[in-house]
Amino acid sequence: MNAPFSYSSPTLSVDALKHSIAYKLMFTIGKDPAAANKHEWLNAALLAIRDRMVERWLRSNRAQLSQDVRQVYYLSMEFLIGRSLSNALLALGMYEDTDMALREMGLDLAELIEEENDPGLGNGGLGRLAACFLDSLATLGLPGRGYGIRYDYGMFKQNIIDGCQAESPDYWLEYGNPWEFQRYNTRYKVRFGGRLQHEGSRVRWVETEEVLATAFDQIIPGYDTDATNTLRLWGAQASNEINLGKFNQGDYFAAVEDKNHSENVSRVLYPDDSTYSGRELRLRQEYFLVSATVQDILNRHWIMHQTFDNLSDKIAIHLNDTHPVLAIPELMRVLVDDHKFGWDDAFEVACQVFSYTNHTLMQEALERWPVDMMGKILPRHLQIIFEINDYFLKTINEHYPDDWDLQSRISIIDESNGRQVRMAWLAVVVSHKVNGVSDLHSNLMVQSLFADFARLFPGRFCNKTNGITPRRWLALANPSLSSVLDDTIGKTWRTDLSQLEELKQYIDYPAFIQRIADAKLTNKKRLAQYIAQKMDLVLDPNALFDVQIKRIHEYKRQLLNVLQVITRYNRIKAEPQGNWVPRVCIFAGKAASAYYMAKHIIHLINDVAAVINNDPQVKNKLKVVFIPNYSVSLAQIIIPAADLSEQISTAGTEASGTSNMKFALNGALTIGTLDGANVEMRQHMGEENIFIFGNTTEQVDALRRNGYNPHAFYEQDQALHQVLTQIATGVFSPQEPGRYRNIFDSLVNLGDHYQLLADYRSYVDTQDRVDDLYRNHEEWTRKALLNISSMGFFSSDRTVQEYADEIWSIKPVQL
Ligand SMILES: *Cc1c(COP(=O)(O)O)cnc(C)c1O
Repeated sequence: MNAPFSYSSPTLSVDALKHSIAYKLMFTIGKDPAAANKHEWLNAALLAIRDRMVERWLRSNRAQLSQDVRQVYYLSMEFLIGRSLSNALLALGMYEDTDMALREMGLDLAELIEEENDPGLGNGGLGRLAACFLDSLATLGLPGRGYGIRYDYGMFKQNIIDGCQAESPDYWLEYGNPWEFQRYNTRYKVRFGGRLQHEGSRVRWVETEEVLATAFDQIIPGYDTDATNTLRLWGAQASNEINLGKFNQGDYFAAVEDKNHSENVSRVLYPDDSTYSGRELRLRQEYFLVSATVQDILNRHWIMHQTFDNLSDKIAIHLNDTHPVLAIPELMRVLVDDHKFGWDDAFEVACQVFSYTNHTLMQEALERWPVDMMGKILPRHLQIIFEINDYFLKTINEHYPDDWDLQSRISIIDESNGRQVRMAWLAVVVSHKVNGVSDLHSNLMVQSLFADFARLFPGRFCNKTNGITPRRWLALANPSLSSVLDDTIGKTWRTDLSQLEELKQYIDYPAFIQRIADAKLTNKKRLAQYIAQKMDLVLDPNALFDVQIKRIHEYKRQLLNVLQVITRYNRIKAEPQGNWVPRVCIFAGKAASAYYMAKHIIHLINDVAAVINNDPQVKNKLKVVFIPNYSVSLAQIIIPAADLSEQISTAGTEASGTSNMKFALNGALTIGTLDGANVEMRQHMGEENIFIFGNTTEQVDALRRNGYNPHAFYEQDQALHQVLTQIATGVFSPQEPGRYRNIFDSLVNLGDHYQLLADYRSYVDTQDRVDDLYRNHEEWTRKALLNISSMGFFSSDRTVQEYADEIWSIKPVQL
């Protein structure tokens, strides 16, 4: 940075930083430093740091334009990016300078970091994956942009009241969002409804209602590089600010009603995870995202090339699950109706441009829109989908003539269920690549859900095992372990996680093992302090911290964990003087607001916690904690403090999981089933360093096929019989003894769909092996070290590089 007129440089002194923060506070926020509150100071600091990213951002954008490189556009209804200040400081290498600058101004950086809002613009794993990918794209210097929705209200806030989940709105924009740049000039009309007018072979979509999509950009900095990318989120604006006709008649409320109606499209995130709701507003949201995005992509392309003939050379569009799949008919519609493409050419372009990630094989999560609903809201798109389907079925019929069973199985339109559009089928028919998110999931995907398609298009399907960014999930979340690593193998693991492998040579150095154990204890004390403050509950940091944090879902089997906790309780009660390894069982996670059973399980966890935590016979041998309002920031405190990571979904149900990776990277041992990425984690760390239990996918299937009888397990296992009886008879809900009778019934009498009882014994026995190992603390820590050092493969840098090479064909920008 020798340029005389450069406004900022990465080596800016502490004094300059102090000056910019004070300047932002006074001239942008308009506050006297003597009167500013914490939020205003925070915002001033954010703006000062943002300034330091802008120059890199502009340079990156200029380089992307001038080198005219192929770009990937990553479309996702969710981005769960977490807080940005500490990540930006880490990326820029400005943590120490900022800390000092603030301290000299009488402020505490750590405190300000905690004050930042955590935008909850996602439900769980899928949204968090998108955020890890953005971080890796930027860090690898790859030209990619995220596109999503700027929801006014993110994921609801969860409170626990009398043991039950209570939801309240999360208005995350309360204090403004200093990170975003609103682009008043980047606005697109998004149309809904209306009807089609046929003029010869041309179709016009007329009499539509319109909403405006406005762009809000956030800078995504790469770590230790000038490369930066953009996350562009769309906010809805009414296209007629107020209905003047009505306003003039003096009817104020009617005048603003239309405005509210159209702006509802970006009002709130749907809080459903791994379930499909089929609501009309959701369909509108999905179209809102893709319509604005496709217009923006084409607009940018046109400015650069003044032609669409080279579109498929220059762009790749990735669909994160089926939520943005309407981008396919939308791109074809714009090319055919507005840019005079022939239908076949538009289809060809779409096939080269799109790729799709499947995130689940479970029926209840697969999106299917009723033909009637889609016809009402998106008549032209429905027509194009029918045309794609006709074209596709015709081609298939040429190769497999008159196989009507095959035709009805692969048809994008499901005629058997009151006519529905199968969005996953549409994605598969048009995408040039379809990937699953772990080896196991990708194999099951081509054997089950997409078996017909895999036979028709074998080269289309592939695997891209998920990963996590080591910047947020190790460097930021776990400073105590990071500093041990830095002292031992240097600092460059942050961008090359495979270097963790070098730690293995220190396995026999007791002093080093002790440092790893000390780092863990520090993190456990940090979590214990958080829990003491927020929940008024005192924990022993030397107890085994056993953690299951993730969305509450039957397939994830938090209930199996509860059965194990109660079993442990019963055994302690039966032998209070026994040599028990003290345990703290920690749960966190939100239940979809309409998911009765998931909420009921939260209630049970809290009821069980109340009984156990208040039982004087148990004392410190067992504690149960449900930490409310799980989020990215909470995960960053909890995960580094875990000794044991619970990854216990029914085999074949969890596509990959990513918290399993976060835990192992932070030195927790895993107890888990052979599901999702657990399988690959076992391969990387060795089966002696992970606690695997339960039935395999094949065994789960076989049980299901041959008639699974949960009642037999209930009858034959005494400990299990006792636990289930206690739940059914109100031992944990004495105020209302019948409260959990339905949980008993669903397990014992109604089929136990996720086969908890089949895995119970093996789970409980494996937990005993966990205790045995924990008693030998040095051996435990050695295995934790082997976990950490084997996690290089699970960096999202590796995952994204594979997407770049094998799906998107993109290369880094030269800076
Ligand atoms: C990583 C993460 C998830 C995904 O957790 P799984 O256990 O893989 O389902 C969900 N929510 C948050 C906040 C996360 O950080």
